[in-house]
Amino acid sequence: MNMTHFRPTTARVDLTAIQKNIEGLRNHLHTDAEIIAVVKANAYGHGDVEVSKAAIEAGVTMLAVATPDEALHLREVFSETPILVLGAVPISFVSFAAKEHITLTVFSMDWLEAASEQFSTLDVPVKVHMKIDSGMGRIGVRNEHEMLTLYHGIQSSPQFELDGIFTHFATADEEDSTYYDQQKDVFIHLVNQLPTKPRLVHAANTAASLLKNHVEFDAVRFGISMYGLLPSTYVGEHLPFTIHPALQLETEIVHVKQLKKGEHVGYGATYEAQEDGEWIATLPIGYADGVLRGLQGQEVLVGGIRVPIVGRICMDQLMIRLPFHFPVGEKVVLIGKQEKEQITMQEWADRLHTIPYEVACILTARVPRVYY
Ligand code: PLP
Repeated sequence: MNMTHFRPTTARVDLTAIQKNIEGLRNHLHTDAEIIAVVKANAYGHGDVEVSKAAIEAGVTMLAVATPDEALHLREVFSETPILVLGAVPISFVSFAAKEHITLTVFSMDWLEAASEQFSTLDVPVKVHMKIDSGMGRIGVRNEHEMLTLYHGIQSSPQFELDGIFTHFATADEEDSTYYDQQKDVFIHLVNQLPTKPRLVHAANTAASLLKNHVEFDAVRFGISMYGLLPSTYVGEHLPFTIHPALQLETEIVHVKQLKKGEHVGYGATYEAQEDGEWIATLPIGYADGVLRGLQGQEVLVGGIRVPIVGRICMDQLMIRLPFHFPVGEKVVLIGKQEKEQITMQEWADRLHTIPYEVACILTARVPRVYY
C-alpha cells in the first residue's frame, strides 16, 4: 500500500521488474519446478507484502521467510499461500504454526521430541520440511542415520506431516564447482535413502537456479535475483537472461548554498571548500536511513551527472558538492538510474566491502517504500 509521506526520501520499488525476473526464471527452468519466493528480511528490504503479492501474481507457489514473525506478518495478508519458515523456530511457535498453517523447517530429533511432548495433540498437523546440512554447516541433519531417525520420528508424530526436504548451497555462485558438486551429491544420495519422498524436494537458490543443471527437483528458492540483484559477479558474467533491479533510492535537494574557500562541511569539519563559490546541497537522508557513514565519498546522481557526497554523513542528512547550481526540490538518485547514469547496489557494496544482499537489507524502515 502506498501511504502519504512527508519527506522526499523514498525507495521506489518497481513490482513489474520483480515479475519480469520471475518470468525470466520460469522461462529459463527446464522443468515445471515450482518457484518459491524468498521474501525474508522484509523481502530483502523491498517490502514483504507488496513483493509477495507481485510474486504470487507472477506464479510463485510458496513464500519463504526466516522467522516466525515474518511468517505471521505475511499470513495476515495471504490466507492461502503456503509459507515456509527456513530457520529454526522455538517450540512455543508450533501451536501458532498449526493454527496459521505455517510450514516449519525441522532438523533436530531433540526439537521434534520436545515439540511432540509439549503439543501432544493439535487440531491440524503442522507441515514440515526436513533440512539437510550437505555442507553449509548451518542447520540440518548431516548423515543418513540422523536423517532417517528424524524421518521416522516425523512419520510417527501425528502432530507433524512431512511436506518437503531441502538443503542450501554454500558456493553455487562461484566458478569452482567442486564444493557445490559435493553438496549436490550428498543431498541426492540422502534423498534417495528416504523410504518415501515428500511432496517437495528443493535445493537451488538463485545462483544454482540460474547456472546449474539438474538441481531444480520439485522447486527452486528464488531470492536475490528476484529483486534484480546478483549473487556474485561470476553469476553476473554468466546470466542466462536479463534481470531488472527493482529498487531505486531517491531524495531531493532541500537546501543549496555557495561556500567561500576554506569553509567547512559536516561533523568534524572534515571537508573544506577548495575555492570560492563551491555549490553545496543538503539531502534529507542519512545513516539512520541506511546511507552508512562508510559511504562517505560515494557519488549520487543529480541532473543525470555523478556528484560526490562531501563531509561526514549525518544521521538524517548528508551534503553533496554540485558542479553548478541546482534548485531546492531537484531530484537526487542514490541507487538507481537517472538519464544515462546508474548507481547500483553493487557499487555501494564494493565501497562498503560487502555484498548487495547486505546493502538491500540496510535500508531502514524509516525510508518509505513506494510501489509502482
Ligand atoms: N534458501 C535459503 C535457505 C536461504 O537462506 C536463502 C538466502 O539466504 C535463499 C534460499 C535465497 O538465496 P538467494 O537470495 O541467493 O537466492
